[in-house]
Amino acid sequence: MVERQLRRRGIEDELVLRAMNEVPRERFLPAEVREDAYRDGAVPIGEGQTISQPWIVACMTLLAEPAPDRHVLEVGTGSGYGAAVLSRCCRDVVTIERHEELGDRARSILAELGYDNVDVRHGDGTKGAPDRAPFDAIVVTAVADHDPPQALRDQLRRGAPLVCPVRRGESEYLMVFRGGDEERVVPVRFVPLVAD
Ligand code: SAH
Repeated sequence: MVERQLRRRGIEDELVLRAMNEVPRERFLPAEVREDAYRDGAVPIGEGQTISQPWIVACMTLLAEPAPDRHVLEVGTGSGYGAAVLSRCCRDVVTIERHEELGDRARSILAELGYDNVDVRHGDGTKGAPDRAPFDAIVVTAVADHDPPQALRDQLRRGAPLVCPVRRGESEYLMVFRGGDEERVVPVRFVPLVAD
């Protein structure tokens, strides 16, 4: 997966590649789809949600500019896989999931793997985690309508990246927001970001 799906498609950051190589993706999938774990696409994880394609996870992790001293927020825990990859590249991760069952499942797998620098929370991630702000990066793994929630922007350290897919017209793009700037990275498909 690392060679074929990531390195050959331009992911070169050794910290991210090492994390992608280390985290056992199959452990984050329900038993019935486990054989699809290393497929080059998204895979269903229950509750109508999906785990992103490996390349997208690597790309989003990279855009968050990971480093061992970074404190990162993820909105949309889903399977917990993205949080696991971030946790191998950063100091710690707070991740929020609105489906309690998914969050609970993610929390127990992360604990089984001994990834103890991840705080899995249940709730509406569009409000962020003000008690743990400011963050060195925020990664949103569900698509926002036109722009990321303002509460998330307010919880970033100055100049820190907010990685978020947004819907613009008929299309969805993975974007990076920083200060007043926005950068369009690639067209994507994500499940919707649903606020309470
Ligand atoms: N990073 C995940 C991908 C999950 S898909 C992984 O690696 O598996 C996106 C997730 O965002 C879904 O589980 C969905 O339930 C969740 N979500 C959508 N809106 C949300 C919100 N407002 N707060 C928290 N989670 C949300």
